[in-house]
Amino acid sequence: MNTLIDLTGKRFGKLVVREKLPPRDDKRTRWLCDCDCGNSCVAYSYALRKKNQASCGCGKIKDIAGMRFGHLVVLKRSNQYIDTADRGKKYLWECRCDCGQTVYRLSEKLRDEINCSCKSCMEKSAVNAMVNSAGFVEGTQLSKLARTSPNANSTSGVRGVFFNRRSGKWRASIKFQGKHHYLGEHVKIEEAINARQRAEEQYFAPLLEKYV
Ligand SMILES: [Zn+2]
Ligand SMILES: [Zn+2]
Repeated sequence: MNTLIDLTGKRFGKLVVREKLPPRDDKRTRWLCDCDCGNSCVAYSYALRKKNQASCGCGKIKDIAGMRFGHLVVLKRSNQYIDTADRGKKYLWECRCDCGQTVYRLSEKLRDEINCSCKSCMEKSAVNAMVNSAGFVEGTQLSKLARTSPNANSTSGVRGVFFNRRSGKWRASIKFQGKHHYLGEHVKIEEAINARQRAEEQYFAPLLEKYV
């Protein structure tokens, strides 16, 4: 015998029952409800009728507009949402990143400090953290690349160009991703410097462009 009371269309606090959902393992009757706030949620008959559940939970959610989470300032609740299990909806908050980019986030993610900047700022800060902590990216020390002055022991005044006393020539080399690359010995210092500069462009420029 079916003693089910049809709650479709009935209002319970801020919730209006939209339709019955198929039961799960516990066999209790579940209803898909639309909340006045725009979210939808699933509620059990029992919880609805005893007025235990009178909203999607939004009564507890405070307005976070104007609040800052990491690099994001919350502007307003947007009309964008994500679908949750059981065809529920959760609205996203429109936020502005410090860089000006607009992003949409769930309030619980913000409060847990997850993804509190836009994607490109996240990537940038991940790279910065790497550069700052060790300065190593793709096996190369970026802080050294960015420095153009020669090492203290340089004989030429140019990084990677040394006077070889034995051959009487200027030797050019470059260290990149842990490997020394020999760039030849040159009679004139200018030639050695040119060789080094060409190599810098070849090896360093793409990396610096990418990360700094
Ligand atoms: Zn609600
Ligand atoms: Zn950003």
